[in-house]
Amino acid sequence: MSASGGTGKYKRVLLKLSGESLCGDRGHGINSQALFSIAREIKAAYDGGAQLGVVVGGGNIWRGAQDRGEAIGRVTADYMGMLATIINALALQDALLHLGVPTRVQTAIEIQKLAEAYIRRRAIRHLEKGRVVIFAGGTGNPYFTTDTAASLRAVEIEADALLKATQVDGVYTADPRIDKKAKKLMNVKFMDAIRDRLRVMDTTALTLCMENRMPVVVFNLHVKGNIARAVKGEKVGTTITE
Ligand code: UDP
Repeated sequence: MSASGGTGKYKRVLLKLSGESLCGDRGHGINSQALFSIAREIKAAYDGGAQLGVVVGGGNIWRGAQDRGEAIGRVTADYMGMLATIINALALQDALLHLGVPTRVQTAIEIQKLAEAYIRRRAIRHLEKGRVVIFAGGTGNPYFTTDTAASLRAVEIEADALLKATQVDGVYTADPRIDKKAKKLMNVKFMDAIRDRLRVMDTTALTLCMENRMPVVVFNLHVKGNIARAVKGEKVGTTITE
């Protein structure tokens, strides 16, 4: 059950989960069933032998710019969002530990009593030792998103790919939940995704991946076994490359 080698296409990946994926049908907060279900999916991928880094969002608890109202300034609201990602990371860590998956949380904003600070070399060491590393606190900076944090960490840890698990099964020409005529795209070029403003990730995140030749795979989180399949390099969802 060691995750130090890897037989699939990818030896090391960065998995991005939205905060929304932890709330289940409730629409907000953390739902135990949803949490366990994701933890089981991560375990299946881990058992496949790849080294796994995870970036989790915070939108199930707090979205800075959107939720702040008039009383809270943008920067404070963004820091609150980053704290939300740490709450999610701690929850996911416990769920993974329950399933016997060795896991560390590293935060971009230091909270010594709860987790390690993000130190790149230490993170890589954990991965080499077969520990799942959850990168929490986003980038540690306001005005960014956890998609950008995922791109940044993927590049920093020299992952083979960034795997973005979402609510839909890939990249579409429009939002398939709204537009019935939306078509799914199997392969997309970074430039086209940016130019056509396809709903993949924000431009900062896409640009970072493009400039560092980091392939991005966007796929449906809710199909059982999809994370493991994506990690093995099987075709799921949409692949974005140069
Ligand atoms: N955030 C931030 N800097 C970062 C990452 C996140 O300021 O590097 C804040 C931002 O306010 C964002 C919130 O944290 O709205 C939650 O993250 P995000 O919306 O990306 O989570 P997701 O949509 O993936 O659940």
